[in-house]
Amino acid sequence: MMLNKLYKKFNKKEWKFTIVDKEELHYYQPGFLFIPFGIYEPHDVIKFKKEFIPKEAHFIIDEVHQILPEKNKVELKGGKELSYDLLIIATGTVPVPEETPGLKDKLWYKDIFDFYTFEGATALADKLRDWKGGKLVINIAESIIKCPVAPLEFAFLADAYFTEKGMRDKVEISYVTPLSGAFTKPKATKMLSALLGEKGIQVIPDFYIESVNNEEKKIVSYDAKEVAFDLLVSVPVNMGADMVENSNMGDEDDLNFIPTDKETLQSKAHENIFVIGDATNVPTSKAGAVAHFEAEILEENILSYINGEPLEAKFDGHANCFIETGFGKATLIDFNYTTEPLPGKYPLPIIGPMGLLKVTRANHYGKLMFKWIYWHMLLTGKTLPVSTHLSMAGKELNS
Ligand SMILES: Cc1cc2nc3c(=O)[nH]c(=O)nc-3n(C[C@H](O)[C@H](O)[C@H](O)COP(=O)(O)OP(=O)(O)OC[C@H]3O[C@@H](n4cnc5c(N)ncnc54)[C@H](O)[C@@H]3O)c2cc1C
Repeated sequence: MMLNKLYKKFNKKEWKFTIVDKEELHYYQPGFLFIPFGIYEPHDVIKFKKEFIPKEAHFIIDEVHQILPEKNKVELKGGKELSYDLLIIATGTVPVPEETPGLKDKLWYKDIFDFYTFEGATALADKLRDWKGGKLVINIAESIIKCPVAPLEFAFLADAYFTEKGMRDKVEISYVTPLSGAFTKPKATKMLSALLGEKGIQVIPDFYIESVNNEEKKIVSYDAKEVAFDLLVSVPVNMGADMVENSNMGDEDDLNFIPTDKETLQSKAHENIFVIGDATNVPTSKAGAVAHFEAEILEENILSYINGEPLEAKFDGHANCFIETGFGKATLIDFNYTTEPLPGKYPLPIIGPMGLLKVTRANHYGKLMFKWIYWHMLLTGKTLPVSTHLSMAGKELNS
């Protein structure tokens, strides 16, 4: 996204562009949610990265081992060193099941699955196809995860999937979270908790998983609470890339997220390094929509930076997320650093067509349409016709 945006704006006689990624394939991660339920097939979520990279840019497939900011160099696993004048870090976050004892043990991909990886989502699809029912436990290991609503969507889609298969009465669904409710903000939590209740999904809040007991098939919290499962769907601890740790660039939480100015998106430690997406430690959701709004700000600030001008574009933490609620419907939340998700219409007042904190068919179509927008507009660096900053138009303030 950043390469495609900046490439058009920079003088190619003065600047050379290099992009390094350890994987040749690009995954549309929001699509992982749909794979376990057979709604998407693997081919819906994969494309080759090189399709999105301008031909004149240098594309290296290798893993960055570490950054040496004092030398303005990047060291690759393959041994090569690259020097830079300006660096953008976009290394994201990945689930690390190894952080929870017993999670990636003998039941892994037998009775314990994740759906935040391509491997996990496809293995879970195979499992669900023939599963006869029992206790389905959805557990979130840490409060900072990418797409914080995806586990809720998984619960709603599971309810719909088993209902449509005529076996909902054979499945007990529990949603076990370290949060004190279904979500972090009051209005959204109230609405989503009611929806979970309506669908017969039990919420177990304030549960900080310590370990998984594979013999007795239960998860255990730090304060010795236990939840038994037949099938555990886990969202493991999410961490930034190892490269961040190797470069000693992580924040004090030891989760390898990079201290980043929450408005300018410049690294707090090095002025010629900028950070975007899940790799930052900015206090908003880790989501593709956020990375997209950040990209608009970053484009402006990077152009200011190379022209020696002050960084005047300010990111406000804007995030919006469609939340699939099952049976061809979804809800939508839109918020930023200071404004919690509110009910109303989006993107336009009165006409919408999306409904905020409302369960509608239009929201579901919006979610499905997002895949096309992602491949054809976002990755190619186009600007969407929606406001980068949170707009209060259409929001109901007094409900
Ligand atoms: C199940 C699921 C559902 C989701 N649903 C939504 C949704 O509905 N809406 C939404 O907005 N967001 C959603 N997201 C979140 C969204 O996918 C991410 O927030 C988004 O992809 C973040 O983009 P990013 O560029 O920061 O990181 P990523 O897209 O994860 O990209 C990171 C890149 O860095 C590369 N990399 C990492 N380390 C290195 C290294 N050391 N060397 C070289 N390359 C490296 C990786 O190979 C990868 O290509 C969902 C995510 C999941 C898992």
